[in-house]
Amino acid sequence: MTQTITVIRGDGIGPEIMDATLHVLDSMNLGLQYEFADAGLVALEKHGELLPQATLDSIRKNRIALKSPLTTPVGEGFSSINVELRKRFDLYANVRPAKSFPNTKSRFPDGVDLITVRENTEGAYIGEGQSLSEDGETALLTQKVTRRGSERIVRYAFDLARKTGRKKVTVVHKANILKSTSGLFLKTARTVAAEYPDIECNEMIVDNTCMQLVMRPEQFDIIVTTNLFGDIISDLCAGLVGGLGLAPGANIGTDAAIFEAVHGTAPDIAGQGKANPCALLLGAAQMLDHLGQTEKAERLRAAIIATLEAKDSLTPDLGGSGNTMSFSQAIASWI
Ligand code: NAD
Repeated sequence: MTQTITVIRGDGIGPEIMDATLHVLDSMNLGLQYEFADAGLVALEKHGELLPQATLDSIRKNRIALKSPLTTPVGEGFSSINVELRKRFDLYANVRPAKSFPNTKSRFPDGVDLITVRENTEGAYIGEGQSLSEDGETALLTQKVTRRGSERIVRYAFDLARKTGRKKVTVVHKANILKSTSGLFLKTARTVAAEYPDIECNEMIVDNTCMQLVMRPEQFDIIVTTNLFGDIISDLCAGLVGGLGLAPGANIGTDAAIFEAVHGTAPDIAGQGKANPCALLLGAAQMLDHLGQTEKAERLRAAIIATLEAKDSLTPDLGGSGNTMSFSQAIASWI
């Protein structure tokens, strides 16, 4: 089967980690064809816009995109290209796994294996209704949470639990204080949870969740939460398993899905061959799961684990003396 995917090489370390990722994917005979499209700073320079129509058309046609991080220049049109992409394609589920890997700088070398399912289209994070009073003394932001948005993300989390054999979903909220928005999310989550008696469901307030994650991360399986809480919690979880170089994310909607690394363009190391390609590679593994190629996805993850175990050509963030391409060549050889 041949599947065409849109590939966005991105800014900063983006092209380096994308080349490394495609090198590994090419070694797997996946039947993937790449349609390259521009976004971010590189698109602004080449086409005069951050998110060209041709890129949107490519994603709409192929329905699957693999994307490197992008720079949104300050003061250019929209506040974030990523938020814009999520809005355009209604990519409502942001799925971020955090798993302990060997030989990483993790404080928890074993036992962390959780997924944060973050609502991706509503809430404070999207920055709706922002204003600053003329005297600069008062700032406003509107936070909108809907029953529909809450229901579909919680349902996604429970369906994911069933599909992946996970046993527990923790609903993370702040309904004790944010009684309207977080309150609606929690109430809706309870209704959905009742339809899944085979999956354990518990509720946890977001501040306590942060402490519990740091002290006893093994108690979590799937976390489902609203946009801003999910943004913060998923980076915390990336820290639990050894940093951003190992944290992938999928943005999933009904008509399209975009797979990426959680980290940004890392301008401090761009062009130096130091970037760890694992986060984007793990994003590619999520893409293969999404495409129904679960056996291939597992092979890719197993090759990454074998390379980490062998300390084979690791990048400097993992304490190695390899570079982006030698690391990916090692992973490809373990495939
Ligand atoms: P960042 O994630 O780019 O970097 C944070 C730190 O982590 C840096 O020290 C960096 O060197 C390191 N790091 C990140 N990825 C790494 C990797 N693969 N291997 C080794 N080290 C890695 O965060 P930032 O500095 O806050 O943001 C830089 C830019 O990225 C900003 O313009 C921001 O808007 C953008 N950004 C884009 C995305 C995206 O497109 N998905 C996400 C976050 C930030």
